[in-house]
Amino acid sequence: MPESVRAVVLGRIAYGDHDLVVPVLSAEEGRMSVFAQRPRSKKKRWHALLVPGNTVDLRFSPRRRGDMPSLAQVDLVSDRSSAMSEPMALARAAYFIELAALSTRDGLIAPSLTRALELALDALDQGQTSRWMELQVLRHLGVEPDPDHCARCASDLSQGAALDPMGHGLTCGACSHAGRHYPRPLLDRLRYLGETVVPLGGESDRELGVLLSRALRSQLGVLKSAKVAVALAR
Ligand SMILES: [Zn+2]
Repeated sequence: MPESVRAVVLGRIAYGDHDLVVPVLSAEEGRMSVFAQRPRSKKKRWHALLVPGNTVDLRFSPRRRGDMPSLAQVDLVSDRSSAMSEPMALARAAYFIELAALSTRDGLIAPSLTRALELALDALDQGQTSRWMELQVLRHLGVEPDPDHCARCASDLSQGAALDPMGHGLTCGACSHAGRHYPRPLLDRLRYLGETVVPLGGESDRELGVLLSRALRSQLGVLKSAKVAVALAR
């Protein structure tokens, strides 16, 4: 364990009346939980910093709490609490955090996932950020759909595609007859999204959202926060 770690706060869980267990995601250490003893104390005032969605710099005490590193110092790197004050932005933040948390395991280093989560949290006001983050998570999981070639026979997808029900990606009409058809212009938008290294903003692409959320569902199951975001968007 290094002396200090820059991490995104993924949540917080009350432990007894005074303490917190805080799941975080960092590039170097991956997902892990840290112990915050009395974060509300006047001397520390960490409670307002350890907000899900914030990026913090964490320093650790040499004494561990059970299996968990115990915090000795918390410094704020990026405060996103005001960006998350609007309900839709908060729902998006919760969705991105849940996506990131579910797509990795404790102890696996996750530099690209951590970077993607931070970039997405910095662009909460744009609907299309959700599509970008969904694609980043599929990429992280190693199942980013190829917009140009059938996942089964490698033929080109000039006539559009269907989503393979087994979660293998996009397939041509000859390989898969059932399921929703995704037309070529949609696959072009998917390719464009895959080429962008930062969220480019704009309105949410609903059709692309259907494709990506189905691809994610076969990998991660149904996400609680996705339902909240959809309800808020109505
Ligand atoms: Zn095929």
